[in-house]
Amino acid sequence: MSPVNRSIAPSAALRLARKAWRLLYSDSHQCIAAARQAFDSAVRRGDSAAQGWARLTLGFHMIWYDTPEQAKRELDEARRCCVAVADRAGQLLAEVGLARCAWRKGEFQRSLERVLPLRDEGLRVLKHDERGMLLNTIAGCYSELGQSQQAFAYMYQALRESSAAKSHGFDVVLYCNLAHELIQLGDYHQALSYLQEGLERCADLHNARLFSVLSINRVICLTNLERAAEALRDVQHLLQMPADKDGRGVMNAHFETLALAALRAGDIALGDELVQRAGQTLSEASLPDERATLIVARAELQMARGQPEAAGATLTQALHEMSEARKEGLSLRVRCMYFHALAGVHERLGLAPQALAALRLWQALHTQRSLQASVARYQAAALQTELLRLKQEVGAIDARRRSTERARAELEVANQQLKSKIAEVESLQQALRQQATRDFLTGLFNRRQLDNVLPSMLAMARRDQQPLSVVIIDLDHFKTVNDELGHAAGDRLLAEFGAMLAEHSRKSDVACRYGGEEFCLLMPRTQAEAAQRKCLALLKHWSLSCAANAQHKPGAHSFSAGIADSLAMPGDACALLKAADDALLQAKRAGRSRVLVHAGTLDRIG
Ligand code: GH3
Ligand code: MG
Ligand code: MG
Repeated sequence: MSPVNRSIAPSAALRLARKAWRLLYSDSHQCIAAARQAFDSAVRRGDSAAQGWARLTLGFHMIWYDTPEQAKRELDEARRCCVAVADRAGQLLAEVGLARCAWRKGEFQRSLERVLPLRDEGLRVLKHDERGMLLNTIAGCYSELGQSQQAFAYMYQALRESSAAKSHGFDVVLYCNLAHELIQLGDYHQALSYLQEGLERCADLHNARLFSVLSINRVICLTNLERAAEALRDVQHLLQMPADKDGRGVMNAHFETLALAALRAGDIALGDELVQRAGQTLSEASLPDERATLIVARAELQMARGQPEAAGATLTQALHEMSEARKEGLSLRVRCMYFHALAGVHERLGLAPQALAALRLWQALHTQRSLQASVARYQAAALQTELLRLKQEVGAIDARRRSTERARAELEVANQQLKSKIAEVESLQQALRQQATRDFLTGLFNRRQLDNVLPSMLAMARRDQQPLSVVIIDLDHFKTVNDELGHAAGDRLLAEFGAMLAEHSRKSDVACRYGGEEFCLLMPRTQAEAAQRKCLALLKHWSLSCAANAQHKPGAHSFSAGIADSLAMPGDACALLKAADDALLQAKRAGRSRVLVHAGTLDRIG
């Protein structure tokens, strides 16, 4: 037996099993799907801790959706797994589940004896809803044993343990049980209001069984408040719910309760059908309350059919059982109902003494019930206050959630706006950077950028003892273009020339617009002669493309260029530019459309 090491992170299968467990009351389908998946993976990996919780979840689910025997088998296995890994919380919950199975079978005393000794340890080891489940199971036993005061006290504590924030639908279970308890005491109005509340909260859950129990309790309330006709909607709805895992679960269809509602609403045919269905489903093993309710429903059906003798016979056969002071699971409520019905039947038969005797018994039971109610009233009131607090807590949590969602949505919008603002600013900055270094007309670098980069390029060239050629190009007779075709055409031509320069220069070359119709090329690792060859090729290319384009006819179909390289020219960037400019002037003077190299110290102009 290896104890659970709490410092080790839970396995994925265990996390999934715990998730399934949390879904037990809020979404039975998802709960079961997750529990099965966790179970399979736990079995494959031999993960007992995960298997324990998966089985625990499946077992608790089966208590309501299968038979108590099936649930018991699963919970026994769950307990075994939890024992193997020394998971005390898991073991305690398996015990709670097993006690619930006994309760489902009507063994209320046994169930209580099983669960009560776990209370103190449970309160230490378990958390929130789980504590609530333990306490609620104890409350359920007391309730069925007719000890309402104790039932209320435990329910009150269960409710306090299940904080709204952490509750995963378990608070709706408590609404339902509180209503059941109030029904037993005869406070149908208050019970009804809790049932409405529970049904509303249940609409957010996917728990068909819980929904059906809430609805059945509402049918009981409405029937007893002489509003049986209003209960017919619930009756129809309940009848449409399948008796399986997709519906109300396989046990306790409560056809007898639905039959009473139908009969009192005047729907004899439906009442008849339901009495028959109850007769088929109920057996000796059914709960005493259910069997007694069926007897009353049968008698009421016979009365409705005008057969008071038969009704009398039906009721009288159960007289002995009903008169027993205390029969486990036979509630005061149902006994009151029985004697009330019996008095009515005797009266109809003209049997005054028997009617009076039945009424006396009814009165005695009624007094007993009122006494119980008054003893339980303080606890009931405390519970009601607690429920109100819980409801406000749920409301506050909802409001907080809504406002958080709203704030998140607003934040999201603000974020989007900020993002697009940032993008706008970035593109503006990019444009500004572009404008700072580029000439807007040609897209080439501008004069400022040339002044920035030339000194460092020159320094690098000198350090590496490599040539750097500087070329200054001036378009020939460019003014004519402006004069004859207009400034815009001049601009277009400049842009075309710039594009050609960019296209034909190397990546390492720096092409700039020097000013007006003058351009400058910086050519690293290139001697003047090589630069000259390159420029002559450019000149040829430009002239040819101008010849091919009629618009260029007036001028600027050639250019003149002057070149100086750093090896031939000592001095700084200005000196180099000046030398290239001198060579350009020479080229102009010599008749344009040519490329000359500054002779420099090597005397190369010519
Ligand atoms: P040369 O062969 O001697 O260089 O003659 P040119 O006409 O090319 O030279 P000049 O210096 O006489 O004229 C240059 C003209 O370029 C004058 C000016 O109006 C024009 N210019 C300068 N910058 C721009 C510009 O950005 N766009 C246009 N369309 N024209 C410009
Ligand atoms: Mg010029
Ligand atoms: Mg010119």
